[in-house]
Amino acid sequence: MEDRPAGQRVHDFFEVSPGFSPDEAMLEAERCLQCKKPKCVNGCPVCIDIPAFIAEIALGNFRNAAVIIKADNMLPAVCGRVCPQETQCEGECILSGKEKPILIGSLERFIADWERAHGTSVPEKQASTGHHVAVVGSGPAGLTAAAELSRLGHKVTLFESLHEAGGVLMYGIPEFRLPKEIVRAEVEQVLAMGVEIRLNHLAGRSITVPELQKFDAVFLATGAGLPSFMGIPGEQLNGVYSANEFLTRVNFMHADQFPVFDTPVKKGSRVVVAGGGNVAMDAARVARRLGSKVTLVYRRREEDLPARIDEVTHAKEEGVEILTCASPIRVIGESCVTGVECVQMEMCTPDETGRPAARPVDGSSFIIDADMFIEAIGQGPNPLLISEIKGLARAKKGNVKVDGEGKTSVPRIFAAGDVATGAATVIWAMGSAKTAARAIDRMLRED
Ligand code: FAD
Ligand code: SF4
Repeated sequence: MEDRPAGQRVHDFFEVSPGFSPDEAMLEAERCLQCKKPKCVNGCPVCIDIPAFIAEIALGNFRNAAVIIKADNMLPAVCGRVCPQETQCEGECILSGKEKPILIGSLERFIADWERAHGTSVPEKQASTGHHVAVVGSGPAGLTAAAELSRLGHKVTLFESLHEAGGVLMYGIPEFRLPKEIVRAEVEQVLAMGVEIRLNHLAGRSITVPELQKFDAVFLATGAGLPSFMGIPGEQLNGVYSANEFLTRVNFMHADQFPVFDTPVKKGSRVVVAGGGNVAMDAARVARRLGSKVTLVYRRREEDLPARIDEVTHAKEEGVEILTCASPIRVIGESCVTGVECVQMEMCTPDETGRPAARPVDGSSFIIDADMFIEAIGQGPNPLLISEIKGLARAKKGNVKVDGEGKTSVPRIFAAGDVATGAATVIWAMGSAKTAARAIDRMLRED
């Protein structure tokens, strides 16, 4: 699979990689050793039967492969594109030490795309239990729990505050990594399982907590959409954005096409992005596509960057300058941003994450001329709903405290995904949501 040339893709929002052709997918599938004890399955948080679906691809039975995948994962086109496979299924592949691991994510993406083009089917549902569950939030965690609960025979109503379902998949991850038509198609599959959705419903306001608690169970999947800020001088200036706001404006509100769409966004000539995760890379790559010169400033070393390797490579290919061992300390300007003062960082003893802690070097400050500053240094849970639920225990960073099955401190209320774990990954949100959905099912059947 060849990526589209960087010089071409930096001018548009089309996907970077075209994906496998049927012949390429079959050739790749034939490399699979069909291990008796497949470690790749342990590496997948939703435990897809990876060898079984790959065996069907090798035989050209693409429909069978789709059925196998969808028994465990209702968002395969999404996961095939954005899962950090290198540390999950592919990281466990026995071939990764000897040659290249099987490209499991790309095969999953191929099957999902093939099925979308050739007619989809939904998994069978169990008989109705008569129970009714409220799911709050329609990101990967909410969609997964809704699909699983519906499959197990429960009636599900899904509340979403925005005008479209999908959570970060819609408003955060850019089109060139995850086309929105694909997210919409996978959401439709979940709804086709009989899930009722109420868009533009802000739980805690449009539907109150006592109203939610009238359902037989409540599943909270409200994510971690509250951006953190560095707390440095100048953050109030015009031209400072959180990555969340910047990405939402472009991905969700089409601000790049203003005034065709109503929402504007600043198109800086020189943009500084603070952070080193996927969110920072996405913000930097979107800014490049809006025509900006972009410098990404990260406080640790290049090998410590938390973003996926592919995203770092793609960002560099697209002309994002990555400045490591540096950190912003002040945004400069009178009313608008004119520069960002940074300081060099040196590495010292490892912190609680196991990575070396970064500490500023005295007298090392320097200024980057910039008319825009985007902060992508982390997100926490939006407190609006969870702070209104009496007795809901919270963990250190404000996340909802849950046990291993997603149970909260409040009877009949469960939580999973980023609201419980803190900002993590799509597939961890899905894996924890599936576990919680099964715990809800057990509880309801014991009632
Ligand atoms: P979310 O996706 O945040 O969904 C929460 C939903 O709840 C939202 O739709 C929100 O509108 C809704 N909601 C919130 N409050 C309420 C309320 N009171 N009432 C009703 N609805 C409410 N992960 C990867 O695996 N790979 C990647 O490449 C990757 N890239 C990322 C890039 C960006 C820019 C971001 C921000 C995240 C990225 N992640 C990535 C992380 C991943 O997207 C998240 O871990 C995942 O989306 C979490 O899923 P969730 O369902 O818990 O929450
Ligand atoms: Fe790998 Fe993610 Fe697919 Fe699981 S869902 S097999 S981790 S790409």
